[in-house]
Amino acid sequence: MVDTLLKVEHLNKAYGTKQVLHDINFSVTPGSVTVLLGPSGSGKSTLIRCLNGLEEFQSGQLSFEDQPIKPTPKTWQQLRQKIGMVFQSYDLFPNLTVIDNILLGPLKVQKRSKTEALKQATQLLKEVDLTDYADAFPRQLSGGQKQRIAIVRALALNPEFMLFDEVTASLDPEMVRGVLEVMLNLAKRKMTMLVVTHEMNFAQQIADNVLFLEDGAILEKTQGKQFFTHPQTDRAREFLDSMA
Ligand code: ADP
Ligand code: MG
Repeated sequence: MVDTLLKVEHLNKAYGTKQVLHDINFSVTPGSVTVLLGPSGSGKSTLIRCLNGLEEFQSGQLSFEDQPIKPTPKTWQQLRQKIGMVFQSYDLFPNLTVIDNILLGPLKVQKRSKTEALKQATQLLKEVDLTDYADAFPRQLSGGQKQRIAIVRALALNPEFMLFDEVTASLDPEMVRGVLEVMLNLAKRKMTMLVVTHEMNFAQQIADNVLFLEDGAILEKTQGKQFFTHPQTDRAREFLDSMA
């Protein structure tokens, strides 16, 4: 197994003339959970999108499994099978049933056998407690259920790394717990994850490491426990106070 699953070196990103990420450096070890925290507008989504080829960047080097990523459309297309992503808005296809949403990638992109993909999808649905919804359409699901399906759909590609960008931010409070539990279970099973969240109790529970971002720069890069109990900078302390 590689020591470092993802490595980010000297990443700089601007939108037009506006620099939004400044010399970002960090790495992610296999099986670890990194929580990316920071105020609104600090660049969390932009950073996560750079790691999945959804944003271009001006300079810097990304490596996955010790291989430098050459940022071409073809490379990203291949890597997106290994790097799954779930966003704040559930992007399920409204005209497909739950099971067809889940099977689309495994069948069309990965060309796997229907029997095998269906078996896995059924197991994943069971794990998120949505077995009965296989033939439902997304509009028949609650927000929390849709997010659990969005996670299952990403997992159905057997990714090695999962990116989560505020996946509970648009959910009603009573829906949040169920989605966070799915992520906690993934962490228990040593899925490597990079998570943006505003749920601080959850963040504290799940974080092996924390990256604290402000104005596009990493201000703190520490172990989870240390960040929540002994933040190093005033800004991180203020941030934690504001979230409490
Ligand atoms: P966060 O996810 O931490 O709230 P974002 O990554 O969304 O932060 O945004 C970081 C900065 O980049 C903000 O100043 C935001 O206004 C700007 N930004 C984000 N997306 C775009 C875009 N597509 N075009 C121009 N500026 C953007
Ligand atoms: Mg964001």
